[in-house]
Amino acid sequence: MSEEEKLTPEQLEYQDYARRWLAENRPPPPSVRLPITALETMLEEQRSYLHEWQSKCYHAGLVGADLPTEYGGGGHTGFQRIADEEMGRAGTPFLLNVIGLRMAIPTILEHGTEEQKKKFVAPALSGDEIWCQGFSEPGAGSDLANQQLFAEKRGEEWVLNGHKVWTSLAHFAKWMILITRTSHHHKYDGLTYFISPIQGHPGIEVRPLIKMTGETGFNEVLFEDVVVPDHYRLDEVGKGWTVAMTTLTYERGAADGAGGGIRDARPPIESLVALAKDSRRNGAPASQDAVLRDRIVKQAIVEEAMAQTARRSRVDALCDHPMRLPLQANLNESEFLQHNARLGVDIAGAKASLYKLDEKAPDAGHWPLSYLNSYGETIAAGTSEIQRNILGERVLGMAKSK
Ligand SMILES: Cc1cc2nc3c(=O)[nH]c(=O)nc-3n(C[C@H](O)[C@H](O)[C@H](O)COP(=O)(O)OP(=O)(O)OC[C@H]3O[C@@H](n4cnc5c(N)ncnc54)[C@H](O)[C@@H]3O)c2cc1C
Repeated sequence: MSEEEKLTPEQLEYQDYARRWLAENRPPPPSVRLPITALETMLEEQRSYLHEWQSKCYHAGLVGADLPTEYGGGGHTGFQRIADEEMGRAGTPFLLNVIGLRMAIPTILEHGTEEQKKKFVAPALSGDEIWCQGFSEPGAGSDLANQQLFAEKRGEEWVLNGHKVWTSLAHFAKWMILITRTSHHHKYDGLTYFISPIQGHPGIEVRPLIKMTGETGFNEVLFEDVVVPDHYRLDEVGKGWTVAMTTLTYERGAADGAGGGIRDARPPIESLVALAKDSRRNGAPASQDAVLRDRIVKQAIVEEAMAQTARRSRVDALCDHPMRLPLQANLNESEFLQHNARLGVDIAGAKASLYKLDEKAPDAGHWPLSYLNSYGETIAAGTSEIQRNILGERVLGMAKSK
């Protein structure tokens, strides 16, 4: 919460509590290196460390703070953003169950039955049950409505057959939110949204995929005669596209009011300044190089502009279109991270070729790893091209691109 934003006395008290709690409960360093974001978590040691941390934060009231108490939330208003900012300020580890917090919970709260809300929300908040998202298929990425994984109704159950791909965290997931095709006769109205059990469920096969960083984190998930009860269907048969749009709206930035705990693993601008002071350029500290100084300042200005845009998106009178500002968030953030990482690589110069296992790598090899990783960020949740199309066509009302 920016200092100049007005907080109520209750929010100020909560801010103070969150700040103190985080200072007193910072976890000890993990025994293995953590990845840059939750989406690259691959080792059991990383999972259990991050699970323990999320559970602790949840029980301390820092996760799900604004959600209804009957589903395991704190029942407050305007607390979650404070908790998220305080976690960012404290530099504590990120929360593992990002898909659960950011996408599954708000989608279930908007489209789920009472029974579904009571069953799924609280264990997702504590991180006890990890979620993954099965939207992408080999032939359905940007063209999301081209889903082919088929769900066939048999009595009170559905039988699913097909293939999901790029499924982050499926290797740890208990549940998946997914779009299926239930009719070949209609493109959009032939889609239905489900929650499917993953871990240990008969007919599910999870196959890890390796990223160019050498890490894994996403997977192929094969469905062969997977039985899902009808009460795990989210909303009506044929309404899958509408439900998927809810998920995507949250995934692409409208995270306020969701489970919370979404904190970027974004290094502060000061870390670029420190790197420049420690690196050499033409026989002098790189921090004296006029071009690098200029680039660092430009990044600082963009970061401040993003913070101001986030504030504007919370003021109704400034939002001519409800999604104009929230929809920019994911696009701006992912491209900002990419420029940041590229700048770190340029400042480190030849030393950026030392990767994360090299003792002499600046900042333990963070910059080249972050740069390679950043290409995933500008693809996941819809590529930058697709997000520009959406902003152009749906928000600005421009003509559809051919
Ligand atoms: C790190 C990472 C994590 C991911 N995690 C998940 C996950 O958990 N669950 C999940 O379901 N998916 C996940 N994805 C998949 C992601 O959503 C898709 O990769 C993305 O939507 C693009 O789809 P595609 O890979 O099929 O590319 P394509 O759709 O084939 O696109 C290929 C290229 O063509 C461009 N393009 C396509 N159509 C247009 C158009 N109309 N106008 C302009 N350009 C266009 C795209 O911008 C892109 O550059 C993840 C991806 C990454 C990188």
